Amino acid sequence: MPSIFTKIIEGEIPCYKIAEDDDFFAFLDINPNAKGHTLCVPKKEVDRLLDLDEQTYMGLMAFSRKVGLAIEATIPCKRVGMTVIGLEVPHVHVHLIPLNTMANATFQNKVSLAKEEFEEVAEAIRAKIQ
Ligand code: 5GP
Repeated sequence: MPSIFTKIIEGEIPCYKIAEDDDFFAFLDINPNAKGHTLCVPKKEVDRLLDLDEQTYMGLMAFSRKVGLAIEATIPCKRVGMTVIGLEVPHVHVHLIPLNTMANATFQNKVSLAKEEFEEVAEAIRAKIQ
């Protein structure tokens, strides 16, 4: 059965899309640690980061860097943190999280955003993608 992220990539489940190329897809996390929290995923469905072939792994990092720079240019924050966990969704994804305090990195303090706020932040980040 396809993962929830494959369904998002294929447009079966809606998302706030940030960027896409032939191999990778980025969209806002639906339960964000901070405004602008974004997930970058390879279209190839693989569960664990270290099981990616080297080319996909390196491509995912390059794609995530591009998206992370756009987040940093959009969201006031000290830096954008990168985390890979994957205990909830078995489809590799890089979390890009605007950080101001350590609490933003813990996945315990969540922010609640209205649909309009998700749309607004997604559009602002998209506009900064180089
Ligand atoms: P992890 O697998 O790294 O522990 O966490 C999975 C992440 O995916 C969580 O931060 C969760 O909020 C996010 N997530 C789970 N389901 C969906 C979904 O349907 N849409 C979006 N945009 N994010 C999701």
